[in-house]
Amino acid sequence: MRINRALRLGLGALALALAATACGGGNEGSALDHAKDGKLTVGIKFDQPGLGLRNKDGSYSGFDVEVAKYVAGKLGVQPESITFKEAPSAQRETLIENGQVDLVVATYSITDKRKEKVDFAGPYYVAGQSLLVKADNTDITGVESLNGNKKLCSVKGSTPAQNVKEKYAKDVQLQEFDTYSLCVEALRNGSVDAVTTDDIILAGFAAQSPGQLKVVGKPFTTENYGIGLKKGDKETRDKVNDAIEAMIADGSWAKALQQTVGGAGFTPSPAPQVNRY
Ligand code: GLU
Repeated sequence: MRINRALRLGLGALALALAATACGGGNEGSALDHAKDGKLTVGIKFDQPGLGLRNKDGSYSGFDVEVAKYVAGKLGVQPESITFKEAPSAQRETLIENGQVDLVVATYSITDKRKEKVDFAGPYYVAGQSLLVKADNTDITGVESLNGNKKLCSVKGSTPAQNVKEKYAKDVQLQEFDTYSLCVEALRNGSVDAVTTDDIILAGFAAQSPGQLKVVGKPFTTENYGIGLKKGDKETRDKVNDAIEAMIADGSWAKALQQTVGGAGFTPSPAPQVNRY
């Protein structure tokens, strides 16, 4: 009897879970439908200074935020009508697939693996994987010097973590957290020796605490940042690509980049060419 009841409860829970997945907690309709209603939900990072940051007063800042606002504007959506939702690295595909966000603008590299689940407009920026260490560290000078059991932090579901696993895992101890700000905290308190991700992200953290952290070595991958959207939604992808091209052409792109991540010793990459696939 008791088993029966447990089984019934279990099945009930499963049915609820399936129903929740089916509607995904998201809105019906495409990104363009939502934009026509004057609203958009955009996934960004909440903890990456210079790129996607939720400020103490509840406002949002960073280059990804500026790109999101510009693109939304071209789709007819006012900045105040954008709902920003946190999109941690490992959740980005799921958020798009479930319809919980219309777009993801979150230091999101275009990869073939991700393209099995989502589509990308862009690229709107080209970054490269690099390393962040404490300013007084002298033994880590680049990716080769990670050998010798160094503790390296990166983020679950990110391309840098994947790259380290594939290429350097034997020689480094990789620790994976959910966000880069947790990695940076671990670096500060000495529980890891280095943090790895894209140079532009690391530069943002270094700029936040001058003289305490530094980016070392040359970038050792190419990360094409795309705007993630529903797979197969070509109409939205074309419109978002048009917006990225316009942002580059009218000077807003360079201005936004300079105001958010420029300065403090970091030279951003030049504007990329949008790839219409
Ligand atoms: N661009 C890389 C990626 O998409 C690293 C940055 C991130 O995790 O947001 O995985």
